[in-house]
Amino acid sequence: MREMRRSRQLLSQQDCEMILKENTSGVLSVYGEDGYPYGVPLSYVYADGKLYFHSAKDGHKIDSVRNNNKVSFTVIGQDNIVAEEYTTYFQSVIAFGTARILEQDDEKRTAIEQLAEKYMPDLKEGRLQEIEKEFHRLCMIEVTIDSLTGKEAIELVRARR
Ligand SMILES: Cc1cc2nc3c(=O)[nH]c(=O)nc-3n(C[C@H](O)[C@H](O)[C@H](O)COP(=O)(O)OP(=O)(O)OC[C@H]3O[C@@H](n4cnc5c(N)ncnc54)[C@H](O)[C@@H]3O)c2cc1C
Repeated sequence: MREMRRSRQLLSQQDCEMILKENTSGVLSVYGEDGYPYGVPLSYVYADGKLYFHSAKDGHKIDSVRNNNKVSFTVIGQDNIVAEEYTTYFQSVIAFGTARILEQDDEKRTAIEQLAEKYMPDLKEGRLQEIEKEFHRLCMIEVTIDSLTGKEAIELVRARR
């Protein structure tokens, strides 16, 4: 994997993990069709050092993952425009990883329960019922992270000092 050229702006692994935990969507980039990369916005959960996504069983995204399991996932942690400085005070994270479609019911269930808990923490009964209803239609994708980098605007680096 490439090193970041502006190494002062590199976020710690801990900060990267925090951004993954605190945010609710990102863009999954896959090796798409006809030579085009396909970046698709998705909800996700970061658990036990891995990323999990839910998906329909058919479609551009899941077909692409079946064809090539190398993916990347980008989350924008913050994008605070500072017009008078002609910039944005940004933070973002990119994970490169290897995707696997979960085939076994128990691992699929653990993953969807973790995802549902992140988004509907107060609806335990309802979310379990919904999972039951949708379970057979649902595909879960696990991404094992091979590299995780985060970057922030130089102004944020300076402000930390
Ligand atoms: C914030 C957010 C969270 C989401 N969370 C999930 C999730 O957790 N799980 C999930 O399955 N889906 C989620 N979606 C929807 C997701 O972006 C896709 O639309 C969906 O997963 C279908 O993808 P596909 O490749 O199977 O679609 P297909 O219908 O096979 O895609 C065919 C074509 O439609 C177009 N297309 C598909 N999706 C989009 C899109 N979002 N925007 C613009 N064009 C599109 C593309 O040109 C694509 O090549 C989310 C969307 C957003 C914005």
